[in-house]
Amino acid sequence: MATIAENIQEQHERIAKACAQAGRSVQSVTLLVVSKTFPASAVQAAFEAGERRFGENYVQEGLDKIAELSALRPQLEWHLIGPLQSNKTRPVAENFDWVHSVDRLKTAERLAEQRPSHLPPLDICLQVNISAEASKSGLLPGEVASLAQAVQALPRLRLRGLMAIPEPAADFETQRQPHRALAALLAALNRDLGLAMDTLSIGMSADLEAAIAEGATLVRVGSAIFGARQSTT
Ligand SMILES: *Cc1c(COP(=O)(O)O)cnc(C)c1O
Repeated sequence: MATIAENIQEQHERIAKACAQAGRSVQSVTLLVVSKTFPASAVQAAFEAGERRFGENYVQEGLDKIAELSALRPQLEWHLIGPLQSNKTRPVAENFDWVHSVDRLKTAERLAEQRPSHLPPLDICLQVNISAEASKSGLLPGEVASLAQAVQALPRLRLRGLMAIPEPAADFETQRQPHRALAALLAALNRDLGLAMDTLSIGMSADLEAAIAEGATLVRVGSAIFGARQSTT
């Protein structure tokens, strides 16, 4: 079985190849290591392999790991990528560096209010339900502009970009379509609203090549690094 370090190396090779094919520089894509359901020891192994950015889905699980790895905290960047209820915002504002899953003004307002002033602004992505699936969280594309403007105006937050979890698709061309739609939405919002969003958070283990082809700047990779998860999320 491949080690975590070997799997990480392989993901960097996938990213480099996809960047080369898209005519993009490899520095334009960041790897976010998704450690949800895996223990702090797995994060430690990824850290030792050189990784510094980690993504968690569940607030409490993330907080536990952040606490367990507090000795590494200054070197780590923690991203919340899973759903955030507005009654759980305080520990997130106090402990995470990024939130990718903002899809309600109330959540953003609470994060802004609760972000401690001694910390840098919290980096925010708005989650878009780009495949318009009934069961998915996230804003519909037509709802993004008004929330983007509102978040832009809040203190202690920095609006960085858009995040999506497209419907899984087996073939490359089908995978590209929602990624392309999200990239177009980001470009249109920057142009029409005068924003400077720089982050397109798309691409996971199964589709990072398609996401990079369409402009992903941050790919969120879990199972290709740590193996299959027990629970499905
Ligand atoms: C679990 C998860 C990932 C990682 O998915 P893999 O298929 O394991 O790479 C990325 N983004 C979100 C929002 C997730 O929940």
